[in-house]
Amino acid sequence: MARIGLVAHDDKKDELVAWAKTNRDKLALHELWGTGTTGARINEGTGLSVTRLLSGPLGGDAQLGAMIAEGRLDALVFFQDPLTAMPHDVDIKSLNRLATLYNILFAPNHKTADAVLAAL
Ligand code: PGA
Repeated sequence: MARIGLVAHDDKKDELVAWAKTNRDKLALHELWGTGTTGARINEGTGLSVTRLLSGPLGGDAQLGAMIAEGRLDALVFFQDPLTAMPHDVDIKSLNRLATLYNILFAPNHKTADAVLAAL
């Protein structure tokens, strides 16, 4: 069982919920963590149990980053919106940086998420 973090920016939340629905049975085998709104949307949309952290802009991204640094996350699925400026850009950069630094499985988009799930 892997520990997977799930995050999507607002314009990407529908896409992540649809991806989670498609992959519901596979995701159900793992421990799921999500930022506040993303976690709620996935829980409502799929029935999967997602442990919710704070909302991303209020510290949820930082919490996931801390989990990565502490070795408590094996994979991060983070559907990012590259076309919209975010007030919590520093937290997003930090999360990307820590996922890279600690060499965890890291999917910033849909196709890579398919590959990550297949690899788990
Ligand atoms: P949210 O956070 O799931 O609470 O909306 C996502 C984000 O980092 O923008």
